[in-house]
Amino acid sequence: MNQILNSGRTMVAIPGPSVIPDRVLAAMHRPMPNIYDGELMELSLGVLAELPSIARTDGHAFITVSNGHGAWEMAITNTLSRGDKVLVAESGRFARGWGDMAAVSGVDIEVVEAPARSAVDPAMVEARLRADRGHELAAVLVVQVDTASSVRNDIAAIRGAIDAAGHPALLMVDCIASLGCERFEMDEWGVDVTVAGSQKGLMVPPGLGFVWANERAMAAHQRADLRTGYWDWTARLDENVHYLRYAGTPPVSHLYGLREALDMLADEGLEAVWCRHQILADAVRAAVDAWAAPDGLELVITEPAARSNAVTTVLTGTIDAARLRSICEHGAGLVLGVGLVPHENAFRIGHMGHLNPPMLLGTLGTVEAALAAMGAPIGGSGATAAAQVIGAALGSAVR
Ligand SMILES: *Cc1c(COP(=O)(O)O)cnc(C)c1O
Repeated sequence: MNQILNSGRTMVAIPGPSVIPDRVLAAMHRPMPNIYDGELMELSLGVLAELPSIARTDGHAFITVSNGHGAWEMAITNTLSRGDKVLVAESGRFARGWGDMAAVSGVDIEVVEAPARSAVDPAMVEARLRADRGHELAAVLVVQVDTASSVRNDIAAIRGAIDAAGHPALLMVDCIASLGCERFEMDEWGVDVTVAGSQKGLMVPPGLGFVWANERAMAAHQRADLRTGYWDWTARLDENVHYLRYAGTPPVSHLYGLREALDMLADEGLEAVWCRHQILADAVRAAVDAWAAPDGLELVITEPAARSNAVTTVLTGTIDAARLRSICEHGAGLVLGVGLVPHENAFRIGHMGHLNPPMLLGTLGTVEAALAAMGAPIGGSGATAAAQVIGAALGSAVR
């Protein structure tokens, strides 16, 4: 592979970890403080107090020293018991992964699959819950954005389905890919448990997980027999011993990074952050639509309203996606996400977190250049289409 153009800052456009702001990295680079008193403790308590507002809840927030999988396990072990049944509403890959983790802990899982290339169908969830007359199902597990398919599920509609069935199941939502990118209203939408991770929309390196729990989840916690010493919410809520918040030494450097990232989100405003993601995602979709050609590129998700603003999965038809990614990465310094089962001849563009037009237009322009290098059939210029979307948004902002 000719690497002649691959010098300069590499753009990593995979769907997590996302590009971490220099401000966050700089904030993390400091010596260890006293962890029992003073600045770090105040910072930690401040962050814990502010986290509910990020998920739009009045509930409790917990920080795990882990990736998203650890946060998944915290959510499961604190609310469920051996032999409980849960309904996994799958729309790509990640709800099932969460369910598989619950199964290892002794929970029975039942999977309801979204139709191909679509979001979870709330009517299917409602029908399954109506059939569960004995209320055996303890929870519904679903992701807001599935990072494999790039679908966005309608969480409010899924809550509506649970309520329409008159079912008491907890609604547990994985927002690992979407928090800080997509509108998410935990309390308004009736979500009982929300899970997130640090390294996607929240702009902090991998290593922190987040779990939010409302009062219904805390009531389930009182009965749960999967509780373990390390993940246990009750132990972590001890007001008197800060050390127990993290079941041990706090993740000091990550907390400084998180403080900085939360300041950045607050400075921009959560609504403005969601709006920026919407515009940039619209630009990606406009690019793919412009490139689209018979046997060529196309968006995986067919329904426009179900396309995520955090990540886009692009099918490549007869074009070799592995070769396209290789030209981008080795020839031009752009790292794209790989396609995941069942969309293997595909690539994914992460557009989450710390992202602006030059980063995104550079990404899309480089994909277009790689397509040209391959002689791949495209309908038209995606880079131009994306620039027009961004231009229209800038135009209404400066007018
Ligand atoms: C990234 C991701 C995960 C896994 O997170 P890890 O930090 O790798 O454990 C789970 N669910 C979704 C939707 C994700 O995007």
